[in-house]
Amino acid sequence: MVRSPTPWPPPYADDAGNDTRRIVRGPTQQASVLIIAGLDPSGGAGLLADAHVVSQHGFHVAGTVTALTEQDSVMCSWMHPTDASMVSNQIARLIDDFEIRGVKVGMLANPEMAMAVARSLKRLAEMKVPIVVDPVLRATRGIPLLEGNAKQALAPLLPLATVVTPNLDELAALTADHVAHDVDTMRGQARRLKQYGPRAVLAKGGHLEGDIVDVLVDDEGDTAIRGQRIEGVTPHGTGCALSSEIACRLAFGAPLREAVIGACNRVRLRIAEARAVGRGRPFLGL
Ligand code: PLP
Repeated sequence: MVRSPTPWPPPYADDAGNDTRRIVRGPTQQASVLIIAGLDPSGGAGLLADAHVVSQHGFHVAGTVTALTEQDSVMCSWMHPTDASMVSNQIARLIDDFEIRGVKVGMLANPEMAMAVARSLKRLAEMKVPIVVDPVLRATRGIPLLEGNAKQALAPLLPLATVVTPNLDELAALTADHVAHDVDTMRGQARRLKQYGPRAVLAKGGHLEGDIVDVLVDDEGDTAIRGQRIEGVTPHGTGCALSSEIACRLAFGAPLREAVIGACNRVRLRIAEARAVGRGRPFLGL
C-alpha cells in the first residue's frame, strides 16, 4: 500500500478543509539559498531534490535550471542544456534582488554553461558567500551529464568553491588520473584537486569496498568521515542531497568541517530510510 505523506485534513484545517490559521504578522526578511542545477523530473536528483533539502533548512529556495533531463527512477536517457546566457542573467538578477547565504552548483551540462556560471558567481565568492560544487559528470545509470573535458570545463569554477564534492569517478576525471581503489589514492587525488583552488575537497568513497570512508581535505589537513555501509541500498540523488546539505549548513554559518561532517551523517540517515517511489532505484528518505 502506498502511504500518503500527510494526513487529510491537516491539523490546522476544519472539516471542510479550510485553513483556519490566522495571519498574525506581516512579511519578515528571509534569506535564500541559490541552487544551480539540472531538472530531473522524477524529483530524485537535481533541482527538485536540492529544493527539498533547502526548504527543510528553512531557507527560501531560489534556483536556475542548467539542463532538462529525461529520466525516471530506472535511468536517465537524455539531457538538453538550457541557454547559458539566460542562466547567467537569471543568476545576476537573483544576486541583485535576494540575500543569498549559500549556493549549490550541480549539473552544468557543457563547458559554456560552466563558464557562464563561474562568471556569474564571482561576485558572491568575493562576498564570501559559501559555494558548494558537486562536479556532476554522469548519471549512475545512463548518459553523461557534462559534455567535453571535465577538468577544463570546471577549471574556472573550482577557485570559487568553498567545497567540491567529487565521487571516485569525478575525482579521477578532474585530476586526469585512474579511478582510485583505496583510501590512500583517493586522499592523494583529493589533495591534488585542492591545488586547483577550492577551499576544501570532500572525496566521496562510497564506491570503495567495505565500510564507507569519505575524506575531507582542507587547509588544516585531512579528515576521514567514516560510516557503516547500508547493504543493497543505492538511492538515486545522494550526491545532490549531500552537496545541498553542506551548502545549507554553511549558509547558517557552521564551520566548514562541522558542516561537512553533519551533512554526511544526515545523508547517511536518509539513505537508511530510503523509499521506493518508482520501479527503479529508491529515493532518499525525507
Ligand atoms: N540528474 C540530475 C539532474 C543530476 O543532477 C544528477 C546527479 O547529480 C543525476 C541525474 C544523477 O543522479 P544519480 O547518479 O544518483 O542517478
